[in-house]
Amino acid sequence: MQTRVYNIAFAESTRQAYLHFWDCNLHCRGCGCQKVVYDFMLDRNMHLHLAEPRGIATSPQRFMDLDDVIETLFGLEVRWVLFEGQESSLDPSMPLIAEAAHRRLGTTNVLLTNGMKMPDLRYIDKVSVGLKAFSKELHQDYTGESNKTILENFPKIFKSGVPMMAETVLIPGYIDHDEIGRVAKFIASVDPNIRYQIDAYFKAGNNPWRRPTSDEVERSVAVARKYLNNVYAYKGTEPREFGVKSIFPTEEELATRELAPAVDACEPIPT
Ligand code: SF4
Repeated sequence: MQTRVYNIAFAESTRQAYLHFWDCNLHCRGCGCQKVVYDFMLDRNMHLHLAEPRGIATSPQRFMDLDDVIETLFGLEVRWVLFEGQESSLDPSMPLIAEAAHRRLGTTNVLLTNGMKMPDLRYIDKVSVGLKAFSKELHQDYTGESNKTILENFPKIFKSGVPMMAETVLIPGYIDHDEIGRVAKFIASVDPNIRYQIDAYFKAGNNPWRRPTSDEVERSVAVARKYLNNVYAYKGTEPREFGVKSIFPTEEELATRELAPAVDACEPIPT
């Protein structure tokens, strides 16, 4: 069975595997895949979230078979599997991978989803839902789609009993602290103890926005804390204490220009 898995990244020290699936049912204007297709956490890509975009990255061309994905996870003796971007819940192989890893390796499975499709959660241990915006018009403008289904699915995911959190990307002057407040209020209407993470936007794609300052992130955190008890921020400048390598494609393959147009599409910001 062909999957939509195009990248497996692995952190050896924590035995975490990051599975990246292609295809999405939203079209976010700030989607990071426009800039870097392969895992941002890879040691080789760590500087790229701060880099200035130079065009749109090329889509992946190679995808793994289901057996290859499972064999790779077994070979790595993974303890954690993260199912992530683009939207893994669209791939019928996602629950099969989650089941195999759960049953045979005893992994903790974490799903990152945009919530547009109610995911199969049978073998998922934690869920993070990316809420892009609460305001209808803003969500439509940013993603090209209505958020009606997402706002309906969010409480359904909560009621499933799988531990969940939510995330929103802070974009100054666009998805700003006032919108973060609306999202936080919505989350609190489901449960004020749901963990909420505010992610600093990094420049991707062809749009006019800049990264937020540290103070702007803190201001949004303060706004969200009016409604929620567990609010955190990811500013993108935090140090990382473990290495991440690409298993598929291999590091050697990523080093070739043929497989690394996404990286080549960007250049580091001078420090
Ligand atoms: S939901 Fe995620 S993967 Fe899909 S377009 Fe938006 S940012 Fe990109």
